[in-house]
Amino acid sequence: MSKPLHIVTPLLEIPAFNLPGKRVRFKMDPYQPAGSFKIRGIGHTCRKAKETGASRILASSGGNAGLAAAYAARELGLPITVVVPSLTAPETVAKLRAFGAEVIVHGDFWDQAHSLCLEMQAADPGITYIHPFDMPDLWEGHASLVDELAEQCDSQPDLIITSVGGGGLMRGIVEGLHRNGWDSTHVLAVETPGCDSLRRAMEAGELVPVDKLDTVAKSLAARQVCQAALDCTRTHTVIPCVVEDARAVAGCVKFLDEAHTLVEAACGAPVAVVMDNMEVLAPYQNIVVECCGGNSVTMAILNAWREQFGV
Ligand SMILES: *Cc1c(COP(=O)(O)O)cnc(C)c1O
Repeated sequence: MSKPLHIVTPLLEIPAFNLPGKRVRFKMDPYQPAGSFKIRGIGHTCRKAKETGASRILASSGGNAGLAAAYAARELGLPITVVVPSLTAPETVAKLRAFGAEVIVHGDFWDQAHSLCLEMQAADPGITYIHPFDMPDLWEGHASLVDELAEQCDSQPDLIITSVGGGGLMRGIVEGLHRNGWDSTHVLAVETPGCDSLRRAMEAGELVPVDKLDTVAKSLAARQVCQAALDCTRTHTVIPCVVEDARAVAGCVKFLDEAHTLVEAACGAPVAVVMDNMEVLAPYQNIVVECCGGNSVTMAILNAWREQFGV
């Protein structure tokens, strides 16, 4: 296969986040091409599609998944169409077009963009549709971050902290832990209260849709996690953890000050778990935070959140 589209990102200790008696390190996926971990799984899926003769890539996300798909398609020389809901920021549409993507604006919500993609895919067998979180190839690609940890860590971490939207990243991490023989590493799955679909699913033992998504962590705002995300919590130790929006914003601010990197609230939330030395960390000594990154944030947006939450 052609060479990977993602890069090996640094695993950094950031002194201001050190905790007494623990080792904490940050996997710096904000540095990935297209600005988030998404290129890991999406790049992997697009490369596979190209090798099996796909003629076009299709994506349904006005967020980081769409950008990663547009970047991947351009690198592989494949044409791409991205269907985005009408609420997508004009800046994002401009970024997608700058990567050479054809952009179709359709519907008010992601579900409608997703439905149109399924129709388009059914009408043309040459199209590979990249689901933003529910695809085995995607998880296989996200798992690369654990392969890198296996090279970068001198001993097995006992905890990986990650955020959860649709659950593709978490599922990929669990797959990566398994394929590296790290089944005993626990996963702390962080959500904000307005989109805690994994926590609810784990409590109910089945998928429960969140009726009203309400969070500044927009990349986590999936109505429900994929079944595969819930399923892997039955075979692997996954601890659900809810972080308030205000703390996620505070996490972004401190991460900017200390890691000099601007990230979405979806990334500020797992950072806040360490910043606040939350009780849930008590049993763990060797901790890795998966910093997912994200493009949908600027200084102006961060300042507006600070105002909103009094941070
Ligand atoms: C997509 C995304 C997430 C959530 O990933 P899932 O696979 O949907 O759980 C978290 N953070 C950022 C920045 C993302 O782009």
